[in-house]
Amino acid sequence: MYTFGIRARGFRARLLRWYGRHGRALPWRRTRDPYRILVSEVMLQQTQVARVVPAYGRFLRRFPTLRALARAPLGHVLVQWSGLGYPRRARDLHRAARLARGRLPTDVAALDELPGIGTYTAGAVACFSTGAPVAFADTNIRRVLGRVLLGRTATEREAVEIDAALVPRGDAARWHHALMDLGATVCVTRAPRCDACPVFEPCLAKGTDASPATRRQAAFATSDRRVRGAIMRILAERRAATLPTLRNAIADHRVARLVAQLSEEGLLSVRGERIALPGLRRARASRS
Ligand code: SF4
Repeated sequence: MYTFGIRARGFRARLLRWYGRHGRALPWRRTRDPYRILVSEVMLQQTQVARVVPAYGRFLRRFPTLRALARAPLGHVLVQWSGLGYPRRARDLHRAARLARGRLPTDVAALDELPGIGTYTAGAVACFSTGAPVAFADTNIRRVLGRVLLGRTATEREAVEIDAALVPRGDAARWHHALMDLGATVCVTRAPRCDACPVFEPCLAKGTDASPATRRQAAFATSDRRVRGAIMRILAERRAATLPTLRNAIADHRVARLVAQLSEEGLLSVRGERIALPGLRRARASRS
């Protein structure tokens, strides 16, 4: 259990003041509806904010409530998700909407049990929808709390413990938004902008590059993802296709294997020659 003194309190006050002037006005920060917050958090898990903003608006126009999402066939959800990547997130969000039966819980333990919602997402949804002083840490929070108070990026466990000691009762949502914004805009992974940082004074890592070496993703995994993305995009546009169509359009030897993989994951359905997003009304498989 961490205990911090004046330095940590000074850090907290400076950060919240800075957020008041420089915080990002993101659309999911204007609501306390747990469903809308969950949609934003799931989208942000693996997609950059700039791409999430327009997709979030489109998704909520199509599925404005948890019930609307639960009622929709998975194929429609995947069409709306197209372009965001990692479609398993959409599948899990859809499953969570169905399991929640019209009412999303707002406590961490119950949220954590829903598919695709890990400890971080459960904490964020609970905090942002109710204002509860729940401790959680994404990569930005780990970096900021760790650099300021430990002199290096914190592990998730360390960051959650520090966060639990510092999260202000009654201002928990702003606190976490402020940490995320500082990590996204000033205390970035490489070349943090210490000269423009509002918490320069109390920070133990100021002026040093305290970021851990980042591991490059395996090229194989990256290109599998590219081909999976291309398959999903084509099916979202055409509704259905055959294997030869997909092979012609993508020109990659992995197409058949990845169609089978996507089918096993429940992200597309294969009936005879026809390959389609799940639950979409039957359309002739495009051969062009
Ligand atoms: S002083 Fe530098 S390392 Fe410390 S929080 Fe600010 S940007 Fe990050």
